[in-house]
Amino acid sequence: MKCPHCQIEFHDRVMTHELGIDEDGYWYIDVQRCPACMHLVMQLFSKLRIEHGSLGEMPGSEASRYLVRPKTASRPLPPSEVPIEFAKDYVEAALAIGDSPQASAALSRRCLQHVLREKSGVKPADLAKEIDQVLNSGQLPSHLAEAIDAVRNIGNFAAHPIKSTHSGEVLPVEPGEAEWTLDVLDGLFDFYFVQPALLQQRRAALNAKLAAANKPPVKG
Ligand SMILES: [Zn+2]
Repeated sequence: MKCPHCQIEFHDRVMTHELGIDEDGYWYIDVQRCPACMHLVMQLFSKLRIEHGSLGEMPGSEASRYLVRPKTASRPLPPSEVPIEFAKDYVEAALAIGDSPQASAALSRRCLQHVLREKSGVKPADLAKEIDQVLNSGQLPSHLAEAIDAVRNIGNFAAHPIKSTHSGEVLPVEPGEAEWTLDVLDGLFDFYFVQPALLQQRRAALNAKLAAANKPPVKG
């Protein structure tokens, strides 16, 4: 597995501890130590209760599994240049991804729509049409345009039109969809917030040098 703390692939023996039985099943915890970062990874899981005639009840196949430590896979916080109104939904989406990819994707779709409306200048429509508008505007570099186009393809918006009309709605997700939408937000945050701030700093530094040499500043 990939260590959810440090993202390095590892194989380590699993210690399984029995916790108890309740009406939902037999409960256990798997504990592993990542040899790279030495953090413990803990997964809570349950097995079905199965009747075996005269043998009585036995644990059956696995019924549920939850990552309990770390609480979330490590995805860094958005850069400080990203305003809180966008960062907040992103952070909540990243926290939810382990427990509910559906809830996570709903939050990140809402965040995506918010960024497109505030920063890409799209006219409010449904998310699929807003993605069209930003692609047609040609303002995004091609790798980002392809990534954002894939949001609606992976998310199968054609089969789930409600995903694009109510972007905050919690709906079934395709494998990888929640992660992908967060990856796209990473790219948009960099394009709309981080790079312009860097350029601004460089321009200010250049203008300070020009001013010292009694030359006119560059405009931005
Ligand atoms: Zn690790």
